[in-house]
Amino acid sequence: MVRYDARILLWSLRSHAMAKNSPASLKARNERRAYWKRTIDPSSFPHTAVKRCISCNEMKECKWAATFTQTGHPEYKSRCIECQKKRYKEIATKKRERISKNAKRRRQELKIKYIEYLGGKCSRCGYNRSLRALTFHHRTRHDKERDLSQMLDWSWERVKAELDKCDLVCFNCHMEMEDEFERRKNESHKN
Ligand SMILES: [Zn+2]
Ligand SMILES: [Zn+2]
Repeated sequence: MVRYDARILLWSLRSHAMAKNSPASLKARNERRAYWKRTIDPSSFPHTAVKRCISCNEMKECKWAATFTQTGHPEYKSRCIECQKKRYKEIATKKRERISKNAKRRRQELKIKYIEYLGGKCSRCGYNRSLRALTFHHRTRHDKERDLSQMLDWSWERVKAELDKCDLVCFNCHMEMEDEFERRKNESHKN
């Protein structure tokens, strides 16, 4: 039998004998924390505590972080409720930006793939310097210019079938083709 305070001393000696951040000691610590989470009734302690917030540096109410220390004390967030809210918003914004950046990169990669499939250059004048200035012009359905974003989640087979109906043209040639189309349309109205 050991006295309570002696037990704590022994326990701390033993845990210090293990390298502090070794996988084994981290695992043991997480197991103790999980044990308290399973064991302690969450309605038996306050869910906010007044602490110094690490963002605004004021003594403010901080929410319970839904975790316990390895010695079974509830852990509270390091930011006050207001700063925590602000931070979540910032994280959400950053996440949105990252997702849209990824989507943009993916669109770019797919566009390169489509352009390469159609020969890599304007089919009328051979222009190939700017990715942005190359467009997909639908040969038969004039009003149905292919919007790349529509094809993003199509299978490659379906995309290929669609691309086969398109000419790769640069922006200038595209506009000239529009002019020609308008001219032809007007002439056919006159006849
Ligand atoms: Zn704060
Ligand atoms: Zn061209």
